[in-house]
Amino acid sequence: MKRNLQNSTSILLPFYMKALTHVLLVAAVLSAGSIFSQAQSKVSAEGYVCLPCGLNCDERVYDKPGLCPYCGMDRVKKSTVMFGSIEPDQLCDYVSKNPNVVLLDVRTRTEFEERSVPNYGTLKNAVNIPIQELDSRLAELDAYRNIEVIVYCSHGQRSSQASYLLSQNGFGNVRNMTGGLRVLKDDGCKK
Ligand SMILES: [Zn+2]
Repeated sequence: MKRNLQNSTSILLPFYMKALTHVLLVAAVLSAGSIFSQAQSKVSAEGYVCLPCGLNCDERVYDKPGLCPYCGMDRVKKSTVMFGSIEPDQLCDYVSKNPNVVLLDVRTRTEFEERSVPNYGTLKNAVNIPIQELDSRLAELDAYRNIEVIVYCSHGQRSSQASYLLSQNGFGNVRNMTGGLRVLKDDGCKK
């Protein structure tokens, strides 16, 4: 009886070894797969972009931070860009159909009051907080955290930086008007 048992163990041993080899092989494939997907997500998480402002460089992805050579703005991690865009030719129509939208003008008070040269005008019902003061005056916008905010300036760069700041501070529905008032042809929503 004892002898038989020994025999069956020695018969089964190659089977165990084979099964173990399979298990190790599967484990190796799985871990290689997870290393690969980690490497992939690492690459996509570390891509850097300049803040979308309507220029051609919006689509570029860089592998390190620094200044964008085209628009001069700081690059940020792509995964941190959490605001949208609206084209100037869509703006007035959109605002007339969505009267609850908050329009945030981040130009200087002089520009907002149309005392600057050139004067690009000002949108009706806009709130003015210059970009330089936005960080310290965020509390004034607290009521709008869950309302759509469309940010604009003259060329779309200050507003993209302001949109980024807002979205980083809990404003969940922010859009930048690309290109700024300079390229807004429709006077329908201007003062
Ligand atoms: Zn750029």
